[in-house]
Amino acid sequence: MRRLPLTLLAAGLLASGIASAATTTIPATAVKTAEQLRDQALHDDTAYQVTASLTTEVGARLAGSEADRRAVDWAVAKFKELGYDKVYTEPVTYPLWVRRSEHAAIVAPFPQPLTLTALGYSPATPKGGLRAEVVRFDSLDALKAADPASVKGKIVYVDYHMERAKDGHGYGMGSAVRVAGPVLAAQKGAAGYLLRSAGTDAHERAPHTGVTGFRDPAKAIPAAALSNPDADQLTRVLAYGKPVTLKLDLDCGITGEYTGANVIGEITGRKHPDQVVAIGGHLDSWDLGTGAIDDGAGVAIAMAAGKLIRELPQRPDRTIRVIAFANEEMGLWGGRAYADKHAKEVAKFQLGTESDFGAGPIWRMSASVKPEARAAIGQIAKVLEPVGVAYDAGKPGGGGSDLSQMHAKGMAALSLTQDGTKYFDWHHTPNDTLDKIDPAELAQNVAVYAAFSYMAAQANGDFGSAPGAFANDGAGE
Ligand code: ZN
Ligand code: ZN
Repeated sequence: MRRLPLTLLAAGLLASGIASAATTTIPATAVKTAEQLRDQALHDDTAYQVTASLTTEVGARLAGSEADRRAVDWAVAKFKELGYDKVYTEPVTYPLWVRRSEHAAIVAPFPQPLTLTALGYSPATPKGGLRAEVVRFDSLDALKAADPASVKGKIVYVDYHMERAKDGHGYGMGSAVRVAGPVLAAQKGAAGYLLRSAGTDAHERAPHTGVTGFRDPAKAIPAAALSNPDADQLTRVLAYGKPVTLKLDLDCGITGEYTGANVIGEITGRKHPDQVVAIGGHLDSWDLGTGAIDDGAGVAIAMAAGKLIRELPQRPDRTIRVIAFANEEMGLWGGRAYADKHAKEVAKFQLGTESDFGAGPIWRMSASVKPEARAAIGQIAKVLEPVGVAYDAGKPGGGGSDLSQMHAKGMAALSLTQDGTKYFDWHHTPNDTLDKIDPAELAQNVAVYAAFSYMAAQANGDFGSAPGAFANDGAGE
């Protein structure tokens, strides 16, 4: 068949009336209401109050901890307080990892302590600590290429520098050094693993924790992240060219299994209550800070957006479902449990995305939707443009962290990219606290979430959710 230019093809389909029947549009009245929601959100401090409430009344909430349990109670109560029509939980089961204590020191040639933090799923060192020589690599590739004989019985140290970026792309390699690095080192027979923190701060003696890729505790080795100044120090000591011996003393590990919960609040749709716009964030956090930017903000943005929609004179056509996910941090446990449970209903998910990249302003939107819904995405983009959001039609929409799992099942999804320039200065450190959030920037996020959610809920037609619909959109890459 002769190839027709896409625009001609689309025009032809439109003229034939086939595509026009399937073309999704957003009614003018809904666009107008979305603009009002957007403008109102900019002057609403609900999200900031919600983030303050969570980070103050619960604080740090490591998955499976006593605080995590309180966070679930907090989320149930907060949804009710905000007037949600329906509030419920769904169980999520995962390995329970605990952190008790962590110390390290250079033993020779220049004895001195080092500041570090254990990584998720790291086992404890033997009683009395692990003493071994350090072998340094400047990248994950260098470790991959290493002869196992050069690594066996030693503490591998990967000294990779992460750079700041608006879209946070440096975290791709930074997190690979933390997730894949320890597994690789263990496979080569290393006794322990250290990395320069996957973070972009330079002067804070505050290490960045995070999960490793260890899945089989029997094959795991003690693994920890040095703060950036401590990594500088260790690198300087190694530069003397003498053997460097380290003592690593970590008390942490998996103690069993735990069942937590995804907490869900809904604004019930008036016409199609079974069709949902899904938004959310993750409720758990690491234990070092109070989880304000990661991801109290995300939970608060979605909760506040739903609350604004609830306050309209009448309920939206479709349901707004806000999900506060369990244990995102140690491997998307809440997101995977959710997608397993709801995969069969994927076609009922109108559109979805999760906020999990801090509280900076949203500057870019991209979407994975059916071609006949592109015009509706354009309508959404037009409403978001005045608050600084640019539509990138060439990128897929991944749905965010946990909801990426529903997207992988076939849910039409957006990506709403926040400005992450400073995010990795504080991410997973003791400095992830409420003072890092600018209330006006947080409100801009709510404006975007409220406007897009409402427009998706009111659309004439769908966005193409169907089993396996977006398997090849490249969002997972
Ligand atoms: Zn997160
Ligand atoms: Zn995180």
